Amino acid sequence: MSSRVALVTGGTGGIGTAICKRLADMGHRVATNYRNEEKARAWQQQMKAEGYDITLVPGDVGTPEGAADLVRGVEQALGPVEILVNNAGITRDTTFHRMTAEQWHEVINTNLNSVFNVTRPVIDGMRERKWGRVIQISSINGLKGQYGQANYAAAKAGMHGFTISLARENARLGITVNTVSPGYVATDMVMAVPEEVRAKIVADIPTGRLGRPEEIAYAVGFLVAEEAAWITGSNLDINGGHHMGW
Ligand code: NDP
Repeated sequence: MSSRVALVTGGTGGIGTAICKRLADMGHRVATNYRNEEKARAWQQQMKAEGYDITLVPGDVGTPEGAADLVRGVEQALGPVEILVNNAGITRDTTFHRMTAEQWHEVINTNLNSVFNVTRPVIDGMRERKWGRVIQISSINGLKGQYGQANYAAAKAGMHGFTISLARENARLGITVNTVSPGYVATDMVMAVPEEVRAKIVADIPTGRLGRPEEIAYAVGFLVAEEAAWITGSNLDINGGHHMGW
């Protein structure tokens, strides 16, 4: 199996950490970004204690300059990016009639504009080398909508349009582009939701529990495999049956 260079944005978060580990377990050389040095150092120590050597590069994916610096830093440390997982994301939940322009723009910028910011500096290299894997971590709520998440659902739905367009443009160049849409996974993002709301969400999930970050990472590992060369422009729903069909 080839060892590829992988960049996972937001790799120090709940799902991102599991993706970093999964890709490292597959033999890939993995990098992620950080914004807070102290938090990053503690995370890297934890990874080392678990036997993982993940490269950390400073970077805010919310600006084209920050993303370009991030990609440059990863390429200097490990070489050209061959696998990109656009995973960084935030929520700023409130009903639309209360939503401020700041809450709207912050979420669109971090969750969707970041996908442009990071993919743009890596796509030329993937096209030249005729191999690449680009995966967007979207959300169940980008497919079905969610009360209080007009900003988040719009950003996550936008990832699908991006994915299927980029997939078409690059299909003949050995580059696959796919989306993974997790349901509710037990990370800080979901544990911040009030307990009674979470209980109602879980009651609605056919498997009767929240997802585990490793279950999302497994899907990413599947899509980046050499054998997954004919899977492009797809969306993989992983949500314990919470949202089925179209
Ligand atoms: P976490 O909050 O645990 O992690 C988010 C990560 O994104 C952190 O590492 C954070 O870094 C990083 N990040 C946020 N903003 C930026 C930025 N501007 N530049 C660089 N990095 C940034 O979230 P999850 O692990 O739960 O979520 C990961 C992805 O999965 C997100 O896109 C989320 O929308 C999606 N998702 C999550 C679900 C869930 O149930 N948890 C369900 C469906 C989708 P920092 O520590 O510096 O803030």
